[in-house]
Amino acid sequence: MTTYTEPLNSVLETVGETPLVRVQASPEEVPVFAKLESFNPGASIKDRIGVYMLENLLERGDIDPGGTVVEPTAGNTGIGMALAATQVDLEVTFVVPEEFSVEKQVLMRALGAEVVNTPTEDGMKRAIDHANELVDNLDNAVVPQQFSNRLNAAAHEHTTGPEILQALDGEVGALVAGCGTAGTLMGTARALLDSNPETHVVAVEPEGSLLARTQGRDVETAEYAIEGIGTSDLSTNELYDPAVVDEVRQVSDRVAHEEMQRLAREEGQLVASSAAAAAVAARDVAVAVRDGHLDVPHETVVTIFPDSSERYLSKGVYDSFEEWAED
Ligand code: PMP
Repeated sequence: MTTYTEPLNSVLETVGETPLVRVQASPEEVPVFAKLESFNPGASIKDRIGVYMLENLLERGDIDPGGTVVEPTAGNTGIGMALAATQVDLEVTFVVPEEFSVEKQVLMRALGAEVVNTPTEDGMKRAIDHANELVDNLDNAVVPQQFSNRLNAAAHEHTTGPEILQALDGEVGALVAGCGTAGTLMGTARALLDSNPETHVVAVEPEGSLLARTQGRDVETAEYAIEGIGTSDLSTNELYDPAVVDEVRQVSDRVAHEEMQRLAREEGQLVASSAAAAAVAARDVAVAVRDGHLDVPHETVVTIFPDSSERYLSKGVYDSFEEWAED
């Protein structure tokens, strides 16, 4: 982890180099380590792609200084991009389905972004279409499109993955991570597979999401409360490459909610529902390795905790399951 012994010029210099902390409830013989992405200045993993994508779009000439970035986003990406935009002379507009947490939308506006809402029932697809419509009517504007832009995964291939390898001296048996755009899993997995092609790669999604179909499983869409991961329309997940993934694991809202509360109470981890889902799946993988049901090159499992529960307090994350799930 960066120790910040020198003064820095901008918060962008504090993006990345997040700590890797053992999940204490994981088996002693096969520890699970979680990368705590709430240590980023915008408090989520998406700061990494905010900085990486905006800097690369400017460098490639996809947009010129003074231009406008328009992005469909569930929230954290908006915060990461808005934060980066304050330092690189770009304006930002975000198209956000209404369902997503108000905390995120308040923070995006505080960072100077314009936020446009689309109806919850129309899903991410409508937000994507609306972002494209907006850009067609603007000069010097671009939709980075985190769902299809390779820079999203590349940010993780060049930062998250190498940081994990360095922290564990290259000894990673399995990577277990939630998938929204799948940028985190794809990019991080590529870095780890490059170091050891036998690394076991696991995608995590809520029950009711459809990535499991890529493995021939007969799953149906259903609503879920876990926020930031999962898909109801596989055609939007352009970055997701099934060839990189060994297993898709589904986690129910109830199990994720229980784990979110356990992580806080027992481990002092104030993480949100997608982190809790990843923690459950990562522990299950570690137990399978310990019990001899799964062969991996090293007896270590790595997962990612994308953001903090503080961002979802208005959704009742620490209330009863019913209050949280019905919100
Ligand atoms: N967890 C949370 C809270 C998120 O906001 C996201 C991004 N949608 C993810 C997990 C998944 O990250 P990715 O888009 O890189 O798959």
